[in-house]
Amino acid sequence: MLPDGSAVSAAGAASRIIIDLEQLSSVPADQAAPLARYAATIQSQRGDYNGRVLSIRQEDLRSLAVIYDASPGALTEQLIGWGVLSAEARRAVDA
Ligand code: C2E
Ligand code: C2E
Repeated sequence: MLPDGSAVSAAGAASRIIIDLEQLSSVPADQAAPLARYAATIQSQRGDYNGRVLSIRQEDLRSLAVIYDASPGALTEQLIGWGVLSAEARRAVDA
């Protein structure tokens, strides 16, 4: 029922949803604001303010898609277009 372990670990390592916070700060504020607030909330909950990147849960991307009134796939493409997500994140969203 499961794919072999090497495929799982390779995909798992490469397909995390990792927000580039520095890149996010260069996105126009009217577009970036909901994601910036969401990321700031997660940082606050974790007590983690130092990172230049932030790994978020897959379910968070689904919540963000509702906030942005888009499908998770469409939001993923938007974030890749802003340079905030790497293209590998597509696999995490498809998973
Ligand atoms: P929680 O969901 O009850 O998680 C408690 C603790 O379990 C977290 O404390 C963290 O140490 C660990 N934990 C839970 N899920 C993961 C995971 O996928 N990876 C890792 N490495 N650790 C995990 P932490 O980080 O201090 O977070 C405190 C609370 O803040 C969490 O309580 C949750 O309510 C919220 N939170 C933190 N990060 C996120 C996030 O990325 N998304 C969401 N939706 N909530 C988050
Ligand atoms: P990660 O820590 O490498 O965790 C990978 C996946 O393992 C998570 O994907 C989740 O499916 C599962 N997992 C790990 N720890 C826990 C846990 O304590 N409770 C539950 N229910 N599942 C767990 P997911 O949720 O998509 O999260 C992706 C990444 O986001 C995590 O990678 C971690 O880097 C970050 N993250 C998510 N939630 C938290 C959190 O509460 N605190 C911290 N510090 N990091 C988090």
